[in-house]
Amino acid sequence: MLVVMSHRATPEEIDAVVAAIEGKGYTARPIPGGERVAIGVLHNKGAVDATHFSGLPGVKDVIPVTRPYKLVSREFQPQDTVVHVGDTAIGNGHMTLIAGPCAVESEEQCLTIARKVKDAGAQLFRGGAFKPRTSPYSFQGLGAEGLKILETVRKETGMPVVTEALDTDNFGLVEEYADVIQIGARNMQNFSLLRRAGRSPRPIIVKRGMAATIDEWLMAAEYVLEGGNTRVMLCERGVRTFAHHSRNTLDLSAVAAVCKESHLPVIVDPSHAAGRRDQVIPLSRAAIAVGAHGLLVEVHHKPEEALSDGAQSLYPEQFQVLCREIRAIFNAFKPVDPV
Ligand code: PEP
Ligand code: MN
Repeated sequence: MLVVMSHRATPEEIDAVVAAIEGKGYTARPIPGGERVAIGVLHNKGAVDATHFSGLPGVKDVIPVTRPYKLVSREFQPQDTVVHVGDTAIGNGHMTLIAGPCAVESEEQCLTIARKVKDAGAQLFRGGAFKPRTSPYSFQGLGAEGLKILETVRKETGMPVVTEALDTDNFGLVEEYADVIQIGARNMQNFSLLRRAGRSPRPIIVKRGMAATIDEWLMAAEYVLEGGNTRVMLCERGVRTFAHHSRNTLDLSAVAAVCKESHLPVIVDPSHAAGRRDQVIPLSRAAIAVGAHGLLVEVHHKPEEALSDGAQSLYPEQFQVLCREIRAIFNAFKPVDPV
């Protein structure tokens, strides 16, 4: 339930409504808006009786929230969230490019790629230090050494860095080095990890699980917001289907649906969706046309030597082409806030 205050409501009236909500054993979450404050009612077990609050001074309206997720929904916050990372704004009318190798392999590899993707127009650098691999025999990432390399990339290029936290054990360490922390597809329903992300001061990317419904994906993001961290981005990276022509199937209708349902920025990872280089540029074009706020793209200067995901990594020259093409599409369509 959402208690919408009148635009003339005083701070004392708002405090009194918060106290009334908490007095009933619920959690009150004030959400400042452009013109007025709304107060979300959380942690209610069953339906909340609107008459408890509708007559209080300063209350304009009491609206039931129909969705299972609350904080991520447009019912709670109609206007788009914009997440700021350094000088980069992500969401609502901005288009953000995050690019880099699947895995951090060496300082030279990362610096080479970072300089190339920055020149092409990427604002953020990506690279995994802790890698979630299907096989325990595959390269697992450089771990803490990889994080130090990412720190060097930030220092040398000025680009903020995005990297994955695989578990709660290494979350604190990743937090020390990363500008943005990624929760990977395989961890989308790792609830202790999501709760830890909710207590983090860093922005979080919540990737969609490869078999997750939109409700489950939004509920995963809800965990992070519920913990107090509102700087959350969603990332569609393909779901598993019967298709064999690609590693996964990029679900662009989910992007359209989620942009309507949630105020959070939605980015698309065409690389893990495609699994092969030749599909990455076409899928990127489509993602921007459908209204994604940005892309997360794997790029490698020597993909044939990459320690992971070489087949889907673009050559830097291809990434340049991608940047040029999607900027033209973005400027032609200028995604509008669906509200
Ligand atoms: C990645 O971004 O490198 C990654 C492992 O992605 P996903 O969790 O989507 O598979
Ligand atoms: Mn990868």
